[in-house]
Amino acid sequence: MIKAKGYAAQNANDTLGLWDFERREVGPHDIQIEILYCGVCHSDLAQINNEWFPGIFPMVPGHEIVGRIVKMGDHVKKFKLGDLAGVGTLVNSCGKCGHCKNDLEQYCDEGVTATYNNVDKFRDGLPTYGGYSNTIVTDESFTVLISEKLDLAAAAPLLCAGITTYSPLKHWKVGKGHKVAVLGLGGLGHMAVKFAVALGAEVTILSTSPKKEADARRLGAHHFVVTKDPEQTDKVKSSFDFIVDTVSAGHDFDFYLSLLKVDGTHICVGVPPEGIHVNGAFSLLAGRKSIVGSAVGGIAETQEMLDFCAEHNIVADIEIIDIKDIQVAFDRMGKGDIRYRFVIDMSTL
Ligand code: NAP
Ligand code: ZN
Ligand code: ZN
Repeated sequence: MIKAKGYAAQNANDTLGLWDFERREVGPHDIQIEILYCGVCHSDLAQINNEWFPGIFPMVPGHEIVGRIVKMGDHVKKFKLGDLAGVGTLVNSCGKCGHCKNDLEQYCDEGVTATYNNVDKFRDGLPTYGGYSNTIVTDESFTVLISEKLDLAAAAPLLCAGITTYSPLKHWKVGKGHKVAVLGLGGLGHMAVKFAVALGAEVTILSTSPKKEADARRLGAHHFVVTKDPEQTDKVKSSFDFIVDTVSAGHDFDFYLSLLKVDGTHICVGVPPEGIHVNGAFSLLAGRKSIVGSAVGGIAETQEMLDFCAEHNIVADIEIIDIKDIQVAFDRMGKGDIRYRFVIDMSTL
């Protein structure tokens, strides 16, 4: 086994602290990455706090992992030693079902293995530990190559915030001629803005934070609407083809559906612990509207997104933090005070 250290929560709701643990030996198809940066996703906070389901503890969060390859197995084909590599939210799947065969590992019929807070039932049945750590061992087929062109720290959030917003925009063929609203300007939201703009859509940010307007314009958004101000929201009633909903807390779906055009689509990527509820049937019926969801993206699509980012020079807007300040970052994230992704400099571990 390989000795590793990380930041872990020993129990639900705990603050994180230094923890020594072990990674598996590098197998024939594995690579070992020295982790240089790891992004901080709202999902990390949600899982430490058992907001989704009872977690597996100790928990080392982190699924926006980038670093350099320091060791590889004999059968590794995609990489060479010293390459920059990334690991996102998935580390294994059955490999046999229709979804796995069609590059949709995230929807594996057997249930995908998440990078942390999971057990790898396809391998050894042992718990998985994430990227708030100095090193990780992964199968090359769940690892992506990162271009040397991209700022590495700012590329880390592409591994979750990036792919989670890129994938639905591509799936629903968002592009020129579409009016797209991005609901919530945080980690996912700011990446959704960058991608929707790059794909040619007219983009409006729907935010609870009036202070984010200047940033919104700098990110490329064409319009900014403060959702607490009825005068502003009245002007965008029945106006959007798509809403990309990245909000992490409970909110009023009937209200946001009223901002969609006839045949409009409300794409949920955020995970409000309260769930997704529509009270009035006519919120959907009167206008043939859809509420849909999307989870991260497959490995091939993650590589496609990273190549798209290298081509269009897209990375996240980040605040680099020392790992000892992770609690401060979580507190700010809980208040929506995000500009627009915290990334841990792993040399501070
Ligand atoms: P984040 O950086 O904290 O951003 C969430 C944003 O939502 C906030 O910045 C805020 O934006 C808005 N918001 C927060 N509370 C709100 C409230 N009560 N009402 C309205 N708006 C509110 O979080 P993130 O990392 O982007 O993650 C967003 C959500 O996506 C989380 O639930 C996360 O677990 C989930 N997620 C899902 C997937 C997937 O596969 N589908 C992948 C990753 C993450 P404003 O200040 O602009 O209002
Ligand atoms: Zn995430
Ligand atoms: Zn499968």
